[in-house]
Amino acid sequence: MNHQITAEDLRGVAELAVGTPIRWEDDVTGFLPCPGAVLHTAPTRPHDCRVKLDRAPTIHCFHASCASMVAAANRRLRSAIGRAQRHGVVTEPTPAGPSDESPPNATPLASMSPQDYERDVLRLRAEFAIASLATARSLPVTEWIPRSPTSVPTDPDAQWRSFLQLFAADANLWIGSEVWQSGNEGRYQHCWRTRDQWLSYPSVPGRYVCPALFLPGTTSRANSAVLARPFLVVESDELNKAEIGAVFLWLAESLSLRAVVDTAGKSLHGWFDCPDEGTLTDLKIILPAFRCDPALFKPSQPVRLPGAMRDGRLQRLLYLDLSHENHAITP
Ligand SMILES: [Zn+2]
Repeated sequence: MNHQITAEDLRGVAELAVGTPIRWEDDVTGFLPCPGAVLHTAPTRPHDCRVKLDRAPTIHCFHASCASMVAAANRRLRSAIGRAQRHGVVTEPTPAGPSDESPPNATPLASMSPQDYERDVLRLRAEFAIASLATARSLPVTEWIPRSPTSVPTDPDAQWRSFLQLFAADANLWIGSEVWQSGNEGRYQHCWRTRDQWLSYPSVPGRYVCPALFLPGTTSRANSAVLARPFLVVESDELNKAEIGAVFLWLAESLSLRAVVDTAGKSLHGWFDCPDEGTLTDLKIILPAFRCDPALFKPSQPVRLPGAMRDGRLQRLLYLDLSHENHAITP
């Protein structure tokens, strides 16, 4: 026999489904950060977004611009509560005592696999985190340099040289002045040099660099030419610099942040030590929820090299952490 689902169980299920604590006013009504707050076009206030768990569980937000994200959150909420009512609550310990034929553990909430369920929860948490980050925790660009563990040189020529210290001396790196400098029967061979060869250049050798190490002798940025991928670069076309800054800080709680580069466009790039495959898989779900660019999961994607110019403006190094070992060449 399934144990009876209590109102308290349902409140727990709702919080898990929306990925954030809810401030409950009574058994079935509470307030929460709007899942679509990032889309609000007017200021967000504390009681704008309400959830009610009676009959058809519903999140309602005062704003209209967030409707798509609120609708998605409502689908998740109803499906999680429906599953809980059908199968029991996985987080509820089985009561000890004289037993009937109930199974030792309650059936998992989800009919999906545990991995899928966990990813779903991660994605939800990310969606809610971005809403609160973007509205509450933005980080002005000027606050990066004082936070930098390694002091950031102001001289542009010193910036790219310091930045390349993230790589090992013999790392085979691609640097180009155009992103298309690859392949074409070896015509762009000059774009591959070891870190120390690049450092011997009298001035910045290009505007772009790849966060990947390439096989010796390669003349193409094909994925098959990538020897190792020491860094994951995160960016967003949609968040402003202060908002993406808050995302970097959030990610830096679990990943190692090595550099932040102002692209001299709308965006910042965050360079993180590349995590293991499992974490990368999770990030492929989380980062799009942060409106971050999934193309950067491709290790051979060129990104802006700090210390170079873009339309008369400096691609500026804002943060650098050389306190760890730089990356060995072995994959
Ligand atoms: Zn809203």
